[in-house]
Amino acid sequence: MQKELLANPVFAMAAEQFDLVAEFLALPADLRERCKWPKRLISVAVPIQRDDGTTQVFYGHRVQHHLTRGPVKGGLRYHPAVDLGEVAALAMWMNWKCALMDLPYGGGKGGIACDPRHMSRGELERLTRRFTMEILPFIGPEIDVMAPDMGTNEQTMAWITDTYASHTGYLVPSIVTGKPLGMQGSAGRTQATGHGVAFLATNALHKLGVSPENTTAIVQGFGNVGSHTAMTLAAYGVKVIGISDASGALWNPGGIDIANLRVYVAEHGVVRDFPGADAIDPEEMLCQPCDILAPAALDRVITGENAGRLQCRILAEGANGPTTPEADRILNERGDIFVIPDILCNAGGVTVSYFEWVQNFQRFQWNEREVITKLETMMQRAFEKVTGFAERNKVSQRMAAQAIAIKTVADAKALRGMFP
Ligand code: NAD
Repeated sequence: MQKELLANPVFAMAAEQFDLVAEFLALPADLRERCKWPKRLISVAVPIQRDDGTTQVFYGHRVQHHLTRGPVKGGLRYHPAVDLGEVAALAMWMNWKCALMDLPYGGGKGGIACDPRHMSRGELERLTRRFTMEILPFIGPEIDVMAPDMGTNEQTMAWITDTYASHTGYLVPSIVTGKPLGMQGSAGRTQATGHGVAFLATNALHKLGVSPENTTAIVQGFGNVGSHTAMTLAAYGVKVIGISDASGALWNPGGIDIANLRVYVAEHGVVRDFPGADAIDPEEMLCQPCDILAPAALDRVITGENAGRLQCRILAEGANGPTTPEADRILNERGDIFVIPDILCNAGGVTVSYFEWVQNFQRFQWNEREVITKLETMMQRAFEKVTGFAERNKVSQRMAAQAIAIKTVADAKALRGMFP
C-alpha cells in the first residue's frame, strides 16, 4: 500500500495512538503491521448533474480497515474537508470501537468531499445514488454496512437502500443502518449516540461520588450527537450552561432550556441569537468551570493549547478524535479530569446500528424501551471493562479502551491465521 496516500493530521493522530498501544501490549511486529493499516482503500469519481444543467465531478472514498471479525461498519460523511487520510483515521477508530463494544464488525468509514449545505435535495440524491453505484462491488450486508455521519442523515440511508435494491431486485434493509423508521430503521437509533454520551457521563459522576442534580455541563456542537447529549443530560437533572455550534456559542449559568433551543434551531437552523442565553466566545466556553465537558462536533478541539486550562471534572468525548495526543499527555499529567474516550463514549450509535442490523435479519422490530435498555446494558459493561483495566494497569482511560480493543482485533487475526 502507498502509505503516503494517508498523509493527514487526523490519520497521524490515530496512528500515533495505535503505536503507543502496540508498545504497551508488546504486539509482535507482524501483527502490528496487520492491525494498523487498512485492508482496502476505495476512491471513486462521482459525476453528477447540478441543477443548472452542468456536470460536476465529486470524489468519494470508502476505507475498510479490516474484515477479520465481520463486515465493516461505519458512517458516510459529506463535508468539504473529507479526504482519504481522514476517512482512514475514522475507519481505524471505528475498528477499535466495534471491538471494544464486542460487536461482530470491523471498522469502516466513507465520505464525499462536498458541501451539502450548498446542494439541493435533488443534487444530494443524485450524488448519493451515484456514489452507491460506484462502490456497489464493495458493499453488502455481510461486507460493508454504512450509516449516517456528519452531513448525512436517514434520508441519505433511504436513497442508498433504494439504489442497492434496484441492483438486487429486492429490498435488503440490512445494507445500511440509521434508516428511517418507515424503512425498517430501529427505534432509538437517532438519539442513541447522545443518549450513550450522557449515560456514561452520569455513570462517571456516580463513580466520582457525585449525583447528577446540581451538576453542570458544557456541550460543543448541537447536531445529532450534541443535541441528544444535552437533552438527555437535562433529563437526568444536569444543568446545561454552555452550548455551541458552527454559528457561535451560548451561555446561561442558570441553565439553557434545551427543549426550547431545539425548537429554535429547527426554525433558524443555528443556535446563534437564541433568546434564552447570552453569547460567549466559543473557544473560551470550553475552558469555563463545569462538571461535564462534552465536545460533540469536531476532531482536535482539545489541544496542547487549551488542555491545561480546562476546568471540567469529566471530559465526555461525543465527537471522534476531539483530543490530540499532546492534549492527552497534559490531561494524563494533570490527572484531575476523568476522560471517557471517544471509542467508548460515542459507541451508542454503532451499538444501536448493530441492533438495527440484527432486527433487519430477524425481520422483527424491537420497541424503544428494549433498544435503550439493551444499549445501556452494553455501554455499562464496556465502561466497567475500561475503568477496571485502567485501574488495574495504572494507565489512562484512552489507553485502556484502545488496548482492550486492539488486543481483541489482534487475537482474532492471530486465531484466523494466514494462508501459508
Ligand atoms: P452533525 O452534522 O449532526 O452536527 C455537527 C454539529 O457540530 C453541528 O451543530 C455543527 O454546527 C457543529 N459544529 C461545526 N463546526 C463547529 C465549531 N467550529 N464549533 C462548534 N460546533 C461546530 O454531526 P453529528 O452526527 O452530531 O457528529 C458530531 C461528531 O460526533 C462527529 O465527530 C461524528 O463523527 C461523531 N459521531 C457521530 C455519531 C452519530 O451517530 N451521529 C456517532 C459517533 C460519533
